[in-house]
Amino acid sequence: MHHKDQKGKLLIFSAPSGAGKTTIVRHLLSLDLNIEFSVSVTSREPRHNEKNGKDYYFLSEKEFIEKIQNKEFLEWEEVYKGIYYGTLISEVENIRSKGKHVIFDVDVAGGLNIKNYYGNEALAVFIQPPSVEELKKRLINRSTESRDKINMRIEKAESELAFANRFDVIIVNDNLQKALSESEKLIQKFLQ
Ligand code: ADP
Ligand code: 5GP
Repeated sequence: MHHKDQKGKLLIFSAPSGAGKTTIVRHLLSLDLNIEFSVSVTSREPRHNEKNGKDYYFLSEKEFIEKIQNKEFLEWEEVYKGIYYGTLISEVENIRSKGKHVIFDVDVAGGLNIKNYYGNEALAVFIQPPSVEELKKRLINRSTESRDKINMRIEKAESELAFANRFDVIIVNDNLQKALSESEKLIQKFLQ
């Protein structure tokens, strides 16, 4: 496929919700590393601080399903019941055609699919929380989801953690400063 022949690399960050992917990915984007964030499509409601086209492309379920039928996705998952997330082929192509590297914040299944597709051009990083208890604390503390939705995310976390060893690298996010500097070094080395 066309987008496979271009030269920007692929940086995949996956983890259960609340592990700290977004925080780490935002940090990497703030460095001068010629990386651009792959904005995903989702059918969930935007959080109060999220912007359409920056954090996600927010679409209805119906619009999302149309994009599946039109084969617009590199990968997509129903990450939580009735809530869809997917990576657009056009998004990745646009970033790579500018000669930039692409960074993904995707769920564990999506991350492994992208890695499988791009092979050595991609680095798949698993962000591991110190414990499921701590995940729950972080999600409660973030206060962007209702208790029901937090529970849904926690329920999924155990099975997601079982996939950690299929990734190229595991970074434990216990101490945030440590996780940020580890991620930074890892990415700098991979992009050399
Ligand atoms: P994800 O994108 O994986 O769902 P976030 O980056 O949103 O996770 O992090 C979840 C919450 O935990 C946020 O409120 C974030 O500020 C906080 N957080 C991230 N890393 C740590 C850490 N090492 N220790 C404590 N809190 C953290
Ligand atoms: P959130 O609702 O917290 O933003 O994201 C929930 C989960 O969906 C996270 O694990 C996040 O990484 C994942 N996700 C976001 N975008 C995509 C995507 O394009 N594809 C897949 N497979 N998962 C995604």
